[in-house]
Amino acid sequence: MPPASQPADLWQESLSDLITDPRELADFLQLDRRLDPAGEHALAQFPLKVPRAFAERMKKGNWRDPLLRQVWPSFVEEREAPGFTADPLREHHYNPRPGLLHKYHGRVLLIAAPHCAIHCRYCFRREFDYRENSPARAQWREAFNYIGADASIEEVILSGGDPLALGDGQLRWLIESISEIPHVGAVRIHTRLPVVIPERVSGGLLTMLRGCRQRVVVVIHCNHAQEFDAGVAAALAALHRAGVTLLNQSVLLKDVNDDAAALSALSKRLFAENVLPYYLHLPDRVAGTQHFSVTLEAAEKIMRELQASLPGYLVPRLVREDPGEPAKTRIV
Ligand code: SF4
Repeated sequence: MPPASQPADLWQESLSDLITDPRELADFLQLDRRLDPAGEHALAQFPLKVPRAFAERMKKGNWRDPLLRQVWPSFVEEREAPGFTADPLREHHYNPRPGLLHKYHGRVLLIAAPHCAIHCRYCFRREFDYRENSPARAQWREAFNYIGADASIEEVILSGGDPLALGDGQLRWLIESISEIPHVGAVRIHTRLPVVIPERVSGGLLTMLRGCRQRVVVVIHCNHAQEFDAGVAAALAALHRAGVTLLNQSVLLKDVNDDAAALSALSKRLFAENVLPYYLHLPDRVAGTQHFSVTLEAAEKIMRELQASLPGYLVPRLVREDPGEPAKTRIV
């Protein structure tokens, strides 16, 4: 069934019925929890959240499943790791208004939603202060005034949390408010919803995006080809038909996608679904995520293998975010 004909609130039912208990996830996947007990501390700090449709794409009985690895709150997160901190990107330095980050020239980022449909254990905002960055409408107007007063800002990025976890009413209000700022020419939405709950790409959302005055770019955050299924393909096809530019941004994650074969398969699948591979990020050094780290040497070797086997337009740029730099640091 094409996404446009789905009931508008089907995705909200999925969003309110996430797997949040590691025991339920382990039982569903027929795994023995004693082999990788969930860290109680890690869970309390950053709870488990997994959409059922995403869990269904995991292979049963496999602790090393690349989708499971992204969401399992392992006890290893609780180990101390020198150099890994709560806010390695120092985002609080670039937060001039509640909900607004201004790090780079020409674009600002709005923390459009304080929550996500999935909790990715490698997330660089897992300790972000969403309470301080959940503006009411009056505060959002301050953010829009800030953007309106700076004609150099040509692009507004909706991030979070996940902006598509917002209901259509609030999302439409944000997009319409941005539309009224004449010098903003593009709205970019960073989201995992089209992959983890593809029903989110509803008829209402498509109508909203088609009606946007600005160019709309959607960056899906997909890390492995196994994340795709027929529902994801239908959601991406619908976004493509609505005139949305589709890009992907991945994180290079140990034991998830840190080999050229996995990344090559991902690039090919993305292209088949009208999505161009854009960035491959080295993981940020966030406390609790050290088990996802990949060395620079290993990353460069993977990139050489990708360059040797794929056309250039399917090779993502390997980048790292360094606080205080005017742009992401391109490595390869
Ligand atoms: S969806 Fe994005 S913001 Fe949310 S937990 Fe995952 S990586 Fe973090």
